[in-house]
Amino acid sequence: MLPGSSVPRIGPGQPGPAGAVGVLGGGQLGRMFVHAAQAQGFRVVVLEPDAASPAAAAADVHIAAPYDDDAALAALRDQCAAVTTEFENVPALALQRLAEEACVVSPLAAAVQVCQHRAREKQCFQRAAVPCAPFAVIDDEAGVAAAQAMGLLPGILKTATLGYDGKGQVRVASASQLANAWQALRGVPCVLEQQLPLQLEISVIVARGRDGAMVHLPVQQNLHRDGVLAVTQVPAPDVAPATAQQAVASALALAQSLGHVGVLCVEFFVLADGRLVANEMAPRPHNSGHYSIDACDLSQFDLQLHSLVGWPLRRPRQHSAAVMINLMGDLWFAAGAAQAQPPDWPAVLALPGVHLHLYGKTQARPGRKMGHITVTADSADQARAVALQAAARLGLPGF
Ligand code: ATP
Ligand code: MG
Repeated sequence: MLPGSSVPRIGPGQPGPAGAVGVLGGGQLGRMFVHAAQAQGFRVVVLEPDAASPAAAAADVHIAAPYDDDAALAALRDQCAAVTTEFENVPALALQRLAEEACVVSPLAAAVQVCQHRAREKQCFQRAAVPCAPFAVIDDEAGVAAAQAMGLLPGILKTATLGYDGKGQVRVASASQLANAWQALRGVPCVLEQQLPLQLEISVIVARGRDGAMVHLPVQQNLHRDGVLAVTQVPAPDVAPATAQQAVASALALAQSLGHVGVLCVEFFVLADGRLVANEMAPRPHNSGHYSIDACDLSQFDLQLHSLVGWPLRRPRQHSAAVMINLMGDLWFAAGAAQAQPPDWPAVLALPGVHLHLYGKTQARPGRKMGHITVTADSADQARAVALQAAARLGLPGF
């Protein structure tokens, strides 16, 4: 279904496909979408190969098959009037095919194709006049040689596709390190980015409807540890109002320039000299937006649903200050324990304003996102003070 074309009536409580929405992908983002959609009366069908996945466990119907399986896509289309995705590494072709078969789809395949490929993503930043890190595209040996001569070192070599949580990235300081790193990444298409002096990392989530209407969540301040998001604070304590405004304006411009329908998260760096540059974008809800479930009157998953089914997009209102802390699998192996042991939840939940979200993953592994807590409070200082107490009780460092 193309943007602007009429959307068939989709609504909760209706029999057959009209009352059901579908999700490609079974991770935690899909699970939280399932919860939001079910709370508003929709049945949800999840297409995901892994039967033990977080979203499959919550879905009304689970189709266990690869994302590009013909019969599975036909079943999804037959059972749902509208389909979304929870990660951008689904084959854009799957979304394209659903759209061609009169299924309402968001995000659109074209936006997914841009966001799943770092070189295309950077070209999109340039088209929208949004600054990003100086970069070179490396597709072959000649590209390596050209990049070596561009003055981008020290830099970060990133695979063009399939990177997440800092995976598929190598820091390189010299021309020979760059050549070796590209070989170690098996010579796949890559982007070399100049390594920038970061002061802060922030993100902005916008939602755009099929009619072009746009709303956004407040600017989020993100702390990463080992390339993985660890803590999000909203309101962002260290971001100047002009920088926040610029980030929101850039995110809205990118959503518009992509012709995006649905939720879009844009990650930015605030550099040591205060300049703002875009890092990457995701055409879906984002880990840095999880706080919106507990701290806003509309969550990023509500926005995903409302933009998907063509409901009015209202601007979310943040009613509580919030700090979100990711719960990684490492927490299950405190003090070098060999056996996984869940953290002491009652100790954390005894603190005021703590909301626990666990994704139902059956196995804890170091580095795996198992859940998050959001601390809500009347003020940012109060939220931070309680979040620091919660972190200490979990054995996590402060921030
Ligand atoms: P995710 O999808 O989980 O956000 P990712 O694997 O796609 O992560 P990036 O967002 O590209 O990776 O990078 C991960 C982190 O590495 C960033 O949040 C930032 O801390 C650091 N980083 C990335 N690129 C640069 C850069 N050009 N200069 C300095 N630091 C960087
Ligand atoms: Mg990132």
